[in-house]
Amino acid sequence: MQFKEKKIVILGAGISGIGVAGILQQLGANVILNDAKPAEKIKQDFSGLETQGVKMIFGMQDESILQDVDYLVISPGLSINLPLIQKAKSLGILVMSEVEVAYQLCRAPIIAITGTNGKTTTTTLVGEMLQTTGKEIVIGGNIGSSLTKEVAGVTSAGMVVAEISSFQLEGAVDFRPKIAAILNLTPDHLDRHKTMEIYKKTKETIFKNQTADDFLVLNYDDAQVRDMAERAAARVMFFSRKEELSEGIYVKNETITILWDGKKYEVCSVNDIKIKGGHNIENTLAACGMAFLAGAKVTEVAKVIEKFGGVEHRIEFVARINGVEYYNDSKATNPESSIKALEAFDGHVILIAGGRDKKTDLTEFVQLISDKVDHLILLGEAQARFKEAACQRGVKNIHTVQSFEEAVHVAYNLAGANQVVLLSPACSSYDMFDNYEERGKVFKDLVRQLG
Ligand code: ADP
Repeated sequence: MQFKEKKIVILGAGISGIGVAGILQQLGANVILNDAKPAEKIKQDFSGLETQGVKMIFGMQDESILQDVDYLVISPGLSINLPLIQKAKSLGILVMSEVEVAYQLCRAPIIAITGTNGKTTTTTLVGEMLQTTGKEIVIGGNIGSSLTKEVAGVTSAGMVVAEISSFQLEGAVDFRPKIAAILNLTPDHLDRHKTMEIYKKTKETIFKNQTADDFLVLNYDDAQVRDMAERAAARVMFFSRKEELSEGIYVKNETITILWDGKKYEVCSVNDIKIKGGHNIENTLAACGMAFLAGAKVTEVAKVIEKFGGVEHRIEFVARINGVEYYNDSKATNPESSIKALEAFDGHVILIAGGRDKKTDLTEFVQLISDKVDHLILLGEAQARFKEAACQRGVKNIHTVQSFEEAVHVAYNLAGANQVVLLSPACSSYDMFDNYEERGKVFKDLVRQLG
């Protein structure tokens, strides 16, 4: 795809939009960066782009910006269903996501990871595993970064490991990763994708351009993901935590085992995995499979597994105070994630949950709360619905609080020996914080002040 001398409008002036604007202008395109918000409301520095000659249109977003435009690049925060984007399509303008631009400019093979949960953990892990090959490895992707900028300098001898959200897949055109992985599929972001079918189809975009020369790593234990193999042109490698496979990567006698091209490799024991929870066994299997396909040595992969301590805000150990361990799982922004966190503990959990309610079904979540949680501390906009669901399930010790500070103090006062305090909100953070990172940091600060 040629960008030189094309007139390109970039919708959304966040980190992703700014990154792609600068690079496309450098390549000789005529770039217009547009955002519906006025410039003073956007906390970004545009001075570099101005010097480069990028045109900025802020505070309005209507059809007039589409005049004579060749390509429209959309930031992940914007839905493909926006009337302006639909209009652009009807005018014959090629619409693409920032990830597509990154793909077009990237000289190195791309390993792309998607799924409802586990993307960041798995991407980070694959990146560390591939670093053992001695090649140049770039790790990037997802909202809050510009993949285009990250991949711009990498040579064809390197490798790019990219976390790809369903939002970024909406605008994929030629995007064709050498290795793609779909970790799992549960209802999330249905506010944007509307139905599970559309969400699933969007995720499948990750492999739609792959050929028999490429690889697709799929979760065998997730029926919806397993069945994607039927539609894949790439060679499929399944991973399974539950079953011994005739080919792929699985656990046998507690050992991570790869069976591929008739050869068997024993990687390490599942007990060597440091990151907590069964879901992290799945993430490790997927990462291991991708690293193997990308050429990493099994012995080196095993060493990485034994060392990898996880990513911040994902069942992150914070402190031990009076014999009580505190964990920060602020990244759990949906009930499925919080279920995974609860499953990672034997019981006696003091759970802090709540935030902005995603209104998904709570049945399984409250069931697990009744099994594993000694005290449930609820806050945020979801408080009333969560409380009602928990009460209906017969959960007893429910405490409603008004602030994070209060939540941590209530947990501290309740906690006794053998209990753990876990922040795993099952909700997004936007009712109280800018993002889940801020929520996790506030929690950690409050906990550390207790000690
Ligand atoms: P993502 O980048 O997809 O949001 P993360 O690696 O950041 O995923 O993990 C976010 C949360 O999702 C974790 O705290 C955990 O609760 C849950 N999670 C992680 N991996 C999985 C998995 N394989 N299956 C289900 N839930 C998971």
